Amino acid sequence: MGRESEKKMRRMMTVLMCLGLFMGCFGTVKAEIASESLYVKKVENLPEDFIFGMDISSVLSEEASGVKYYDFDGKETDLFRLLADNGINTIRVRIWNNPYDDEGHGFGGGNCDIVNAVEIGKRVASCGLKLIADFHYSDFWADPGKQMVPRAWKDMDIKEKKAAAFAFTKDCLQQLKEAGVDVCMVQVGNETNGAMCGEKTWMNIAYLMDAGARATREVYPEALVAVHFANPENTDSYRTYAKKLDYYEQNGLIHYDVFATSYYPYWHGTLENLSAILTEIAETYGKKVMVMETSYAFTGEDSDYSANTIGDGGNVVKDYPFTPQGQANSIRNITDIIVNGTPAGIGICYWEGAWITVGGDSREENQEKWEKYGSGWASSHAAAYDPKDAGKYYGGSAVDNQALFDAAGKPLESLKVFWLMRKGNETDPVPDAMEDAAVICDLNMPLELPETVNAVMTDNSRRAVPVTWEITEEQERQMHEGGPAQYVIAGEAWGKEARCFVSMVEYNYLTDYSFEDGGEGWVVTDLKNADELYVEDKKTDSLTGSKHLHFWSAAKDSVEFTAEQTIRDLPEGKFRFALSIMGGDCGDTDIYAYVRINGEEVARSEQIPITGYNDWHEGIVPEFAHPAGSEVTVGIYVRCQGAGNGAWGKIDDAMVNSVQ
Ligand code: CA
Repeated sequence: MGRESEKKMRRMMTVLMCLGLFMGCFGTVKAEIASESLYVKKVENLPEDFIFGMDISSVLSEEASGVKYYDFDGKETDLFRLLADNGINTIRVRIWNNPYDDEGHGFGGGNCDIVNAVEIGKRVASCGLKLIADFHYSDFWADPGKQMVPRAWKDMDIKEKKAAAFAFTKDCLQQLKEAGVDVCMVQVGNETNGAMCGEKTWMNIAYLMDAGARATREVYPEALVAVHFANPENTDSYRTYAKKLDYYEQNGLIHYDVFATSYYPYWHGTLENLSAILTEIAETYGKKVMVMETSYAFTGEDSDYSANTIGDGGNVVKDYPFTPQGQANSIRNITDIIVNGTPAGIGICYWEGAWITVGGDSREENQEKWEKYGSGWASSHAAAYDPKDAGKYYGGSAVDNQALFDAAGKPLESLKVFWLMRKGNETDPVPDAMEDAAVICDLNMPLELPETVNAVMTDNSRRAVPVTWEITEEQERQMHEGGPAQYVIAGEAWGKEARCFVSMVEYNYLTDYSFEDGGEGWVVTDLKNADELYVEDKKTDSLTGSKHLHFWSAAKDSVEFTAEQTIRDLPEGKFRFALSIMGGDCGDTDIYAYVRINGEEVARSEQIPITGYNDWHEGIVPEFAHPAGSEVTVGIYVRCQGAGNGAWGKIDDAMVNSVQ
């Protein structure tokens, strides 16, 4: 070996040693993230330190249940390492006070107590990531529908409770600190829409948030304190939250840094609305803002035998197809509007992106793991705390179709979006999925299916493409003879699956029967001055279409109204009148459909019950007749006593059809 080659060898050894050291610190040498198929438009002005968060609170329960995660080469990998390699810089973990019953059985949902958070925190630290600590101040799930006080605090007055909240927060944060965890943000309460920890007045909520904030400043003085709400589509509520908090902040209570929101695109309004309300709050009160929870579906299918919150029905607002590309476009566009449309926007956090099936071939097989390891959203043991909901409807993951992993633990291409947003990955747009078509067909008229459907391209643009429908003459005849019903016709366009939702209907003599034109032709008479009584545009709360007549009122006995429509040119004959209603918290009710002829009531339906969200009931007047030239008025009378939280309901799809 000559002198020169020896030198070269030495140099190479040095390089190798450095590489070795590097690998010792960081595990593996980070490979450049690339994708041949995923379309990602660059997000301009993206700050280096923009928070790309991932909530994986359930991960330890998942791993205990046997779930494994793989990298893009198909090699088993550490989830935290994989996320870090793909541009995630922050992990979020929820913390419940005591999600166990007296015998030590976990309530599920990851059994997320502080022990769980510390374990997650250690792995976060080992990958050089930061942690957002999400305190629910409850023994189990806290969200807009539920803010239950921890059992150990239930007999405390507010003074004792705020002392307990301070001590609990401080103790938890100290444990994280001792474990070497870089906590960059602490969330004091989770989706606290007007309630928290069993308290419902803003003063008491502010006391508790303040306790959490003070504990944070003591243990992690550099960390940001965040408040967190849901439903940004209700902009007035958001204004109220921010204003109330500002009032208490002015009075020395609850100094916070970040106003954070959940934003699930299929429920929470438009991106424009999101950025407008966050901008308003950021600028009015001098706060940072962020999307603390979001997710999107890559499929309509469930994979763990436990129903999902969002599925493949026709009744969901779909800004993007349920595909990995759809997920990526959703994440990218939220990021873009937070970076470029929302001053003081500091980050986004994806919710439970790794909460996939525990892998069994039946619900029973999975159920055993959910019970034993807490890997479902709730176990039967949750009955010890929340018998009416979790203790009754316990099960598996409701978001396995919104993960960034498939059912086998392999990462979806969409996981790369966090990294690829920084420099862009604008591949040539190709069809990603076909938009659903919809047709309403009178039972007495021929069925006309559309000749084209919209292809959703990978860049989320639309292109009309020819479609062929799979339907026989015999099927079409049966649809006409089968009475009013909904059908899904399958088709094919550009080699991809297409669907047409067909509603076979009887001719309806009402105008704007489904409130899609804003209630045109309807007369709504408010007899008690309800807080809210109007046509609402919210697809998930509509029986069909995207609008319905909505009512809500806080005070007892403040709901009494009629909604009616007069038909002047109804031909002679026998007719049937029906409409549908759902709602909740209504207490004693008096609700019925009625028919008036020339001002005289001639028929009335039976009482229509109100029994809960999405539980529609029909009020039916089975038959009425009327003399020629008469004025026929059909309507619904609604009176609700209310059951404490404000009576609410939705009315949709009124039908006047002939009966022969
Ligand atoms: Ca599921």
